[in-house]
This record gives sequence, structure tokens and C-alpha cells, in this order.
Amino acid sequence: MEKESKFVKVKCSKCKNSQIIFGKASTRVKCLECGGIIAEPAGGKTKIRAKVEEVL
Ligand SMILES: [Zn+2]
Repeated sequence: MEKESKFVKVKCSKCKNSQIIFGKASTRVKCLECGGIIAEPAGGKTKIRAKVEEVL
């Protein structure tokens, strides 16, 4: 299953804000509330730094 090609619902580990992001990020994705890094590209993959609540 290509989990990274889908949208995922994540919860920021800092402020607990939930937001939906594209699972494969080519740039850093920041939390809309606190500006913390939620996901960042890592060698062709995406490293999600928040808690994944749901894969959509
Ligand atoms: Zn946050």
C-alpha cells in the first residue's frame, strides 16, 4: 500500500491541532496553529513528524 501518496490526517505533537496534509510532501509542511514542522521530505520519502490519526 502506497501510504505516502495519500492524504493523511495528522495531529501536531506540540499543540494537538489536527490537519489534513498530502502524505508525500516535497517541501516542509508546517502546522497551521503553531508553525511546527509536521512533515518534511527525506531522501525521496516523506518523514511525518506528527501523529498520524487517519489515512484518507
Ligand atoms: Zn502545532
